[in-house]
Amino acid sequence: MSSNTNAFEMAQSQFDHVADMLRLDPEVREILRWPLREFHFRIPVRMDDGTLRVFQGYRVQHNDARGPNKGGIRFHPAETIDTVRALATWMTWKCAVVDIPLGGGKGGVIVDPATLTNGEKERLVRGYIQKMWKNIGPRQDVPAPDVGTTPQMMGWMMDEYSLLTGEFTPGAITGKPVGNGGSLGRTEATGYGVIFSVREALKHLGLDPTTCKASIQGFGNVSQYATIGFIEILGGTVVCVSFWDREDRASYTVSKEDGIDPHFLKSITDQYGSIDKNKAKAAGYVIEDGDAWISKDVDVLIPAAMEGQINADTVQKISKTVRVIAEGANGPTTPDADVVIKERGIFLVPDFLCNAGGVTVSYFEGVQNDMNFYWTREEVLEKEDNKMTSAFKAVLDMSLKENVYMRDAAYMVAIARVVKAMELRGWI
Ligand code: GLU
Repeated sequence: MSSNTNAFEMAQSQFDHVADMLRLDPEVREILRWPLREFHFRIPVRMDDGTLRVFQGYRVQHNDARGPNKGGIRFHPAETIDTVRALATWMTWKCAVVDIPLGGGKGGVIVDPATLTNGEKERLVRGYIQKMWKNIGPRQDVPAPDVGTTPQMMGWMMDEYSLLTGEFTPGAITGKPVGNGGSLGRTEATGYGVIFSVREALKHLGLDPTTCKASIQGFGNVSQYATIGFIEILGGTVVCVSFWDREDRASYTVSKEDGIDPHFLKSITDQYGSIDKNKAKAAGYVIEDGDAWISKDVDVLIPAAMEGQINADTVQKISKTVRVIAEGANGPTTPDADVVIKERGIFLVPDFLCNAGGVTVSYFEGVQNDMNFYWTREEVLEKEDNKMTSAFKAVLDMSLKENVYMRDAAYMVAIARVVKAMELRGWI
């Protein structure tokens, strides 16, 4: 994120902008501008070398008018209460825009997970649940994976929650491993969901995906499956991805003009999304600086890394060829960059619509846990596609009807649903 961008100020500014357009009641704004609840806690962990480290943890519950709070837990060295607040707020809009009966939450721990051993990670995630178990659960707040956390960690969290409550409760956490209450299709759900919305965007613009090129930022879970989906579902070409190199403490773009092979790149990527540069180079890939992805002459840009990446500086580098920006990440575009994208007439699929496939399949995972009956991967992905496609249509219709930018249209659809639920519950 650029140093002058505070993610929560960004989330509030996007909301305020649409609240003004809707002439939203000041009392209603006062509820929605801030999370309803926040938990700040310390997690002591015995490290393998015998020392004790104390980690800072957060869980923010933004709004649960439509159902239990829902959202991932992020492990990141630069995590702050404001990033968690922003991400929790976006989850409220995300669940509302895809019309799943859930609210918005998010968690975070200030830690670089790559510095922990497996045992240390397990003790840290169990410690997180020991601090939070009374305030989470299938009817209160359901955590899931995000940047820096994995299905295995979700499995440990579910186990800890079940041990503390004395009841096997798979629905307390989603994104669990398959065979342990996890859903088939959950791993690829966010990336594929991005691609379902890109497919709808290209259809709307009358573009044939098989002639389209994409440039993708990041090579974590979302980016990997967005890359695979762009090539294998849509038949398009992906010219590059980018990644953060932990050893060099720098990011790089890995490109091949005639198309990258995501399966090969995955095979030389570690669990934190770092690609082995030497192996990539040996296979004919070009290694450029981390910003190179944004200036590629492509039709589709997919930022699928962290927040604040398309900002006042980087937005100027976007090529004239770009027709669609599909936000796989949460909050990748700052409000000043939004102005430029809108002026240039680039079609935007905003983050909380574009990357809602993950939480949609998390919702399906919870439904399967409740039924104790599991669907096939095809059933899950088909249900996800239906949800993503109808959400895309609802937002596009709003954007055309009100003649507004797609991000504003997505906010309009989501805010109306949350306000309606608050009204029906007698909160306002
Ligand atoms: N962390 C993901 C997101 O930002 C998934 C959340 C979930 O599955 O609850 O949407």
